Amino acid sequence: MKHVSFTQLMTYVRCPEHYLFRYVLGIKRPPGKAQKHGFALHETFAYHFDQKKKDSKGLNAREAKEFFVEVFRSALEEYETEMEETKRLITKEFLSKEKGIDVNQLVATGLRGIDVYFRDMNPKISPDLVEEPFSIPTASKVDLVGRIDMTDKKGVIHELKTTRRMPNAQDIQLDQQLAIYQLAYQSLKGKLPKGITKDYIVFSKRDAKIVQFRVDKPFFDKNVVFRNIAVIMEAVRRNIFYCIHPAESWVCSKEWCGFYKLHKELREKGFAKFMLQYSRK
Ligand code: SF4
Repeated sequence: MKHVSFTQLMTYVRCPEHYLFRYVLGIKRPPGKAQKHGFALHETFAYHFDQKKKDSKGLNAREAKEFFVEVFRSALEEYETEMEETKRLITKEFLSKEKGIDVNQLVATGLRGIDVYFRDMNPKISPDLVEEPFSIPTASKVDLVGRIDMTDKKGVIHELKTTRRMPNAQDIQLDQQLAIYQLAYQSLKGKLPKGITKDYIVFSKRDAKIVQFRVDKPFFDKNVVFRNIAVIMEAVRRNIFYCIHPAESWVCSKEWCGFYKLHKELREKGFAKFMLQYSRK
């Protein structure tokens, strides 16, 4: 492996088995309506920031909402195709959970999120870098790659997230992604950022609000990040992929894990036989 992204590293941290299916064997997982919703919001803001960088205005809230609805609509078309392509992996529990998700409600939530962002955050932001790719060499002969969502002209990195759960300052302080963003900024701009913020649009049933956490300096430094990358890469090289969740974990459920059937198949066949079958494809 010549490069690894933060998303891949976090996949291994959350579920090594998931990493095996997705990145080692390249198996597509079933899609989720909620992911498509997150993707459509992300694309909307990325487009807006890019335009704003060029003309200092970008979209207005109405245009952003129209853009979001259009991206979400086409993402839902892809969703149908991807559901068809991955149907052999889909459990009936996963399908019924997906069927229970109301697309109209997701649209309404997205529109509320855009309104609140444009009202409370947008006037304060002048974008500098937008969706800027980075590649950082590490000590373990793999490059760490990714994109910075956006930086502003004051030298602050912004990561925009949407969530239904109130974020917690301590989790953010300990997030190694912040150290990665700092390294990326340094490699792109030749200097340290003034700060790093996580800008959350927090959705509740009828409302949305912005919650922002800022750190001036990440808690972890480059050495910790590189050491963790080296450990994960070594584990992948040695084929260490296991289920880290307790037996009754909701994560490992037929309803939530798109790889549940493969998980079961791996248990039944054993690693060697399973790899022989799927590595050939
Ligand atoms: S069932 Fe659990 S261990 Fe297996 S891939 Fe899914 S989340 Fe990971």
